[in-house]
Amino acid sequence: QLERRTYDYTRSGNPTRDLLGAALADLEGGAAAVVTASGMAALALFAQLLGRDDVLVVPREVYGGSHRLFHGLAARKAFEVVSVDYRDEAELDAVAARGPTWFWVETPSNPLLRLTDIAAVVVKARSVGARVAVDNTFASPLLQQPLALGCDLVVHSTTKYLNGHSDVVGGAVIAREAALHDEVAWWANCLGVTGAPFDAFLTLRGLRTLALRLRAHEENAACIAERLEALRAQDGSAVADVHWPGLTRHADHALARRQQRGFGGMLSFELAEVRGVSDIEVVRAFTRGLTSISVAESLGGVESLIAHPATMTHKAMAAEARASAGIGDRLLRLSVGIEDVEDLWAELEAGIARVSRLVLAPAAS
Ligand SMILES: *Cc1c(COP(=O)(O)O)cnc(C)c1O
Repeated sequence: QLERRTYDYTRSGNPTRDLLGAALADLEGGAAAVVTASGMAALALFAQLLGRDDVLVVPREVYGGSHRLFHGLAARKAFEVVSVDYRDEAELDAVAARGPTWFWVETPSNPLLRLTDIAAVVVKARSVGARVAVDNTFASPLLQQPLALGCDLVVHSTTKYLNGHSDVVGGAVIAREAALHDEVAWWANCLGVTGAPFDAFLTLRGLRTLALRLRAHEENAACIAERLEALRAQDGSAVADVHWPGLTRHADHALARRQQRGFGGMLSFELAEVRGVSDIEVVRAFTRGLTSISVAESLGGVESLIAHPATMTHKAMAAEARASAGIGDRLLRLSVGIEDVEDLWAELEAGIARVSRLVLAPAAS
């Protein structure tokens, strides 16, 4: 028998990737982490844990790629998937009665920043012998630690806050217990979805400033959310609604205080309806003059990005489903960067002024 080295083939094991895995497991308080090539690879890995007889419970308001993967696999009978509104107690009880094996949680949600009470889902899952996985991408382990609340797995798209520089696509699966980690790691090597070492190197570089970046993201988000909220309160305002868990008016503000260590750098807001002007034209009036805030889908990077869910991140959703989920056609999602907040506000304010001018003179614009 020849001696087997720890690192003999990078799909199976790599020292740089292991350093990132150890750091992520440490941050989440898990036994170990599997570092994957993307967030979706991490989700695909999770899906390997389910079989034909398993039922997966998924929130209706979930990342579009997660919805596509879970429902795509369910259509091939890999397992059964049930979409529910986690805020609806009766619906949750009804699905629990069906004997599900896994509950998938994503909190705060995208794009409305609604929260799910993780501890409450854990209690419900335990009562029927099910396990719980949380997509912790939006909060990051610095703001929220699902494993400490009793969850079994945490999944990340490290593409977002963890790397934070919008120059890597990556993911991770962190398990609370070693046995579950071993199962995930076995599939990761088997399928070949492990992350590249250079990506791990870049993500480790990003991690070093995570705490600083998150503080700056949140400080800027707080300032912008409060100013948008002040505008919203005015008569005839071009801002119809603001969603950020740090606002005391936010429906889940108390839960955010309890469950999170901060409110994060993601917010969304809705522009006002303008009579005689289509919703898309209202949105265009706002985005037209933006220069440093790019219109783009990603999030969690140092540069601010703005997205229009109805035509971008949530385009695949049927219009009625979007409407019933509260994702209106004049809703914009802002990933607040770490730029000088006055620069950001000047751009946003100019955008709001363009929408206000439409209200005053829709025909002339
Ligand atoms: C981006 C994202 C994913 C997918 O991650 P990729 O790195 O793009 O593959 C999954 N979940 C959430 C919440 C995300 O924001």
